Amino acid sequence: MPEARGAIRKIASERIEILYNTAVKVYSSDQGLAGEYIRLLLEIGRHYKVKIPKEMAARICKKCQLPLVEGGNLEIRVLAKQRRRIYRCKSCGSVNSLAFRKGSV
Ligand SMILES: [Zn+2]
Repeated sequence: MPEARGAIRKIASERIEILYNTAVKVYSSDQGLAGEYIRLLLEIGRHYKVKIPKEMAARICKKCQLPLVEGGNLEIRVLAKQRRRIYRCKSCGSVNSLAFRKGSV
């Protein structure tokens, strides 16, 4: 039943979104809990074969499995020439990068 699978994946991606937002919210008060949410959302993504949106994936540290939060553990650098944004985790130094379109800085 492809329709049922589509509905399940829709719910899964909504859950991923909710978990990510919650992880960001609790990050400043409880990093352990934020990490739990991130691990859970990655697991839901794997289990239901739902892709984590690129923008969100760039804001998750794959090493620490924590959300990268502005004003917290996130350092953003913009490479205007390459049109890429570099997201660096301040705790472990791991780096994600994301391309952006002209004018969307
Ligand atoms: Zn990290």
